[in-house]
Amino acid sequence: MAIRIIRTDKDEILRKVSKPVELIDNKIRELALDMLDTMYKNDGVGLAAPQVGVLKRVIVYALEDNIHVLVNPYITKTIGLQTEEEGCLSSIDMFGKVDRPAEVHASGTNLDGKTVKIKAKGLEAVVICHEIDHLDGILFLDKAYDVYHLTEEEKEVRRKEAEILNKKSKRKSKAKKDKGSDEKCKNKI
Ligand code: ZN
Repeated sequence: MAIRIIRTDKDEILRKVSKPVELIDNKIRELALDMLDTMYKNDGVGLAAPQVGVLKRVIVYALEDNIHVLVNPYITKTIGLQTEEEGCLSSIDMFGKVDRPAEVHASGTNLDGKTVKIKAKGLEAVVICHEIDHLDGILFLDKAYDVYHLTEEEKEVRRKEAEILNKKSKRKSKAKKDKGSDEKCKNKI
């Protein structure tokens, strides 16, 4: 496994539509594992193949220690609406609110070639939508509002806040979900 270079939002490859994967071979498996490595290394929760310069329809994400790899993912149903703040490993230190479905039903293939069906709510629904957008050349900044750029000072404040939070970590869902690291960093998808 290897860490790959993450393309950032000036890179034209992020604007291209990724091609479906026709065969899940070792190259695709290696890609997915490298994507997971790269995502963890950069404190992200999700990553799409174009973000590492590969125009194939592969996404990975990890929430509450559950790792997901979806090949050729697509959304079959959306329910409701939620608005959450998002960031992106390809848009460094940029954050903004994005309206997404509150729940999505998605389908795809895992690395064994088996069909996977996922019913996702909350952050998982956001991540799936965000990553599938990447496969279509769409960045969250295209949809975001109240966008802001985090300065070095603000990042430091948030890091400290996160540390305090983690020490207290009685705070259920969020703190648990974000396991010991900066919540903002964790929302980089
Ligand atoms: Zn992203």
